[in-house]
Amino acid sequence: MQVFPKDKVIYWFDPANEPVYTVRDGEVFQVHTDDCYSGQIQTAKDLRPNIDISIMDAAVGPIAVAGAEPGDVLKVDILDIAFADHGVMVTSPGLGVLGASIQEPNTKIIPIRNGYAQFSESIRLPVTPMIGVLGVSPASGKIHCAVPGAHGGNMDTKEITCGASVYLPVFVKGASLAVSDLHACMGDGELSGTGIETAGTVTLRATVIKGQPLTEPVIENGHAVYMLATRDTFEEGMQAAVARAVQLLCDKNHLSFPDAYRLMSATSDIRVSQVVNGVLTVKVKVPKYALNWETFL
Ligand code: CA
Ligand code: ZN
Repeated sequence: MQVFPKDKVIYWFDPANEPVYTVRDGEVFQVHTDDCYSGQIQTAKDLRPNIDISIMDAAVGPIAVAGAEPGDVLKVDILDIAFADHGVMVTSPGLGVLGASIQEPNTKIIPIRNGYAQFSESIRLPVTPMIGVLGVSPASGKIHCAVPGAHGGNMDTKEITCGASVYLPVFVKGASLAVSDLHACMGDGELSGTGIETAGTVTLRATVIKGQPLTEPVIENGHAVYMLATRDTFEEGMQAAVARAVQLLCDKNHLSFPDAYRLMSATSDIRVSQVVNGVLTVKVKVPKYALNWETFL
């Protein structure tokens, strides 16, 4: 199996980036990645305002997937996520939903062992492994790795976990996949601005799907399909994600708009992935029992 070390990174998803690794269509490979601070925060004395933010949010890649062409879909199966033995959570003025009320920066190192994150002596959290940044190159322009969008990127969506598949539109030859930003735990919203940020290793399989138009990321697991939409406001994200969920039910279940609309309303949940990355990422969860087919693509 090809194993890609963490030293070749991008800070922008950019069609000008040359791929540094190549995988075959359907190949399983591993990627090592630092945490979102590029390992700059190792002790409680390392404070968020004192680190070099220019090397934050690096993503390992770009990884070319042979055969991927603009207009295709890249399916990325998340086969495994393994962590370092600790994670970090910083708070700092301006960070997260309550950032305006934070006076002093503060860093917490959180040990991770035996499937738990030891938040304090009395509070331990079952890990909910996830990948924060998973994306492909846009068609034109460049998008910072801290920002989510139609290309994926910093989606910070907790359903991007072991056993899930992420479908991304392909905009450039080879797709130029890049990945980073593992979280041992994170809730919907990523409300303080971070998950339990950790370095680690992910095992992925990348498959090219031809002839299936896709405009924005979709996540699928054994139970549901999630239509993601990243927009400036919750209202816009909700409109876009709901419209795509209804369209999915119209197309794949061969339903009229009224039937698809009420089926979605009867079964599907609207949720937020993250509200802290400058834009919002909204997701509509359509359970598979509402669908009369097995896999999204
Ligand atoms: Ca993130
Ligand atoms: Zn993160």
